[in-house]
Amino acid sequence: MKYIFIVGGVMSGVGKGVAAASIGRILKSRGFEVTALKIDPYVNIDAGTMNPTEHGEVFVLNDGTECDQDMGNYERFLDCELSKDNYMTTGSVYLSVINQERNLEYGGKCVEVVPHIPLEVIERIDKAILKNKAQIAVIEIGGTVGEYQNILFLEAVRMLKLKNPDSVSLVLVSYLPILNNDSEMKTKPTQYAVRALNSAGLQPDIILARSAIALDKKRKSKIAFNCNIREEDVISAPDVKNIYEVPVNFEKDNLSENILGKLKLKPKSRDLKKWRQLANLVNSTKKSVKIGIVGKYFGSGGFILTDSYISIIEAVKHAAYYFKVKPEIIWLDAEDYEKNPKNLKELSNCDGVIIPGGFGSRAVEGKIAAIKYLREKKISFLGICYGMQLAVVEFARSVAGLKGAHTTEVESDIHHPIIDILAEQKKHLENKNYGATMRLGSYPAAIKNGTIAYSAYRSPLVSERHRHRYEVNPDYIERLEKSGLIFSGFSPDKRLMEIIELPKNKHPFFVASQFHPEFKSHPFKPHPLFREFVRTSLKK
Ligand code: GLN
Repeated sequence: MKYIFIVGGVMSGVGKGVAAASIGRILKSRGFEVTALKIDPYVNIDAGTMNPTEHGEVFVLNDGTECDQDMGNYERFLDCELSKDNYMTTGSVYLSVINQERNLEYGGKCVEVVPHIPLEVIERIDKAILKNKAQIAVIEIGGTVGEYQNILFLEAVRMLKLKNPDSVSLVLVSYLPILNNDSEMKTKPTQYAVRALNSAGLQPDIILARSAIALDKKRKSKIAFNCNIREEDVISAPDVKNIYEVPVNFEKDNLSENILGKLKLKPKSRDLKKWRQLANLVNSTKKSVKIGIVGKYFGSGGFILTDSYISIIEAVKHAAYYFKVKPEIIWLDAEDYEKNPKNLKELSNCDGVIIPGGFGSRAVEGKIAAIKYLREKKISFLGICYGMQLAVVEFARSVAGLKGAHTTEVESDIHHPIIDILAEQKKHLENKNYGATMRLGSYPAAIKNGTIAYSAYRSPLVSERHRHRYEVNPDYIERLEKSGLIFSGFSPDKRLMEIIELPKNKHPFFVASQFHPEFKSHPFKPHPLFREFVRTSLKK
């Protein structure tokens, strides 16, 4: 087993996840089976209980694991499907150590933070490698070195490297700031990051130097000298316009060969052609498609964050690239539509609009107003999860004549509970049992022949990933159908509604799904619903 650990220096948010995913991709392109793991240093057992403005989108795996958005990058770059074994947090590691202790699995020993916590980490990494039948694991440790909370994970790297020096490689992704345009690029923060690693008993094998521009020779030598590393192990990683360029750029510096050499492995093949073509396409397309996203998880203090919707952005890109166009994403604030309904007009500037998932009552009426506008003005609309539920509410109110229709998520005591909670979910909420209890992960959906959904999937049965507690209330299905709403996807037992749409003669593209199609879109395989949504948007 070979292990490549990716740690961050100086600051977060510099593309460590994309770097880890890209390293995985270039090694895969050299003929190795690669898997990727994410370690998050927070105490939450998983990412599911966090607001997306904390750490970005909550990504969902097939098995229902609610995890960090980087797992989405791994699946997209490695073209694979991961499971709970590929993800851990401080909380989940401690929980299993404590459970094992309670079960007397340590045979009467005193269970200690060191070595038992790092040993549990190593055991989990090995389990993921075996489960994924991988030869190499790329393991990203969240946060930055020097933070109190990831010291035990660094200790795991130290223990592993001590035992298998030729099987462990440590990559530091660091940032080199340029304070203002005419000042020089600063290497000192990176030097401090290496000192922090040194104090944990570790020395990086490779430094990926992230910066606005490429490293010059002088900076490279300076980092090499001060950080005690060879110049060829300092890799320049300048900002790129599109993340699909990253693996291609890494290979310009022969990174795969370098890492494989350190791990005493010989490359078997070289196959990055598709990625090179994609990177070229993205850089050369002129034509664009304007896609609006009506969201509410943007705010982070005085800043705007779009990480909450990262898989949606990626899925839009994949679909746009399929048609050889560039997406232009327009961020639209659902809360604003409640205060200033006249601003709904701006939706007409978009070729197509997405109403994404969400929770709670904030901005719900704004989203409903947007859906009404899109329906009436015949603008391409793709609703996702809450976006579908609110589209059903809007249709019930405006078309089916069900005044006051709503979801019980917002108002528990209503005359027409069009969207309602499942009985089993009710129990979880009553018991305050919120963690990992939603309807999560992959479920099958039957697709109705002759619908937009069918022509997108070209299949009568699909499998899609979920994350929700509420459903279309079965008592209203007949009434909604009579008023013209089509349920084009449903659970095979017909109990749960999975996709809604309007007939083509009423609207060019009005489709919404209870599941999250964005989680299954890949760069070379756009998701069928996103693909058809973009196809219609391009006709505007
Ligand atoms: N809040 C809704 C539910 O729990 C939708 C969830 C979502 O959009 N992911 O059912």
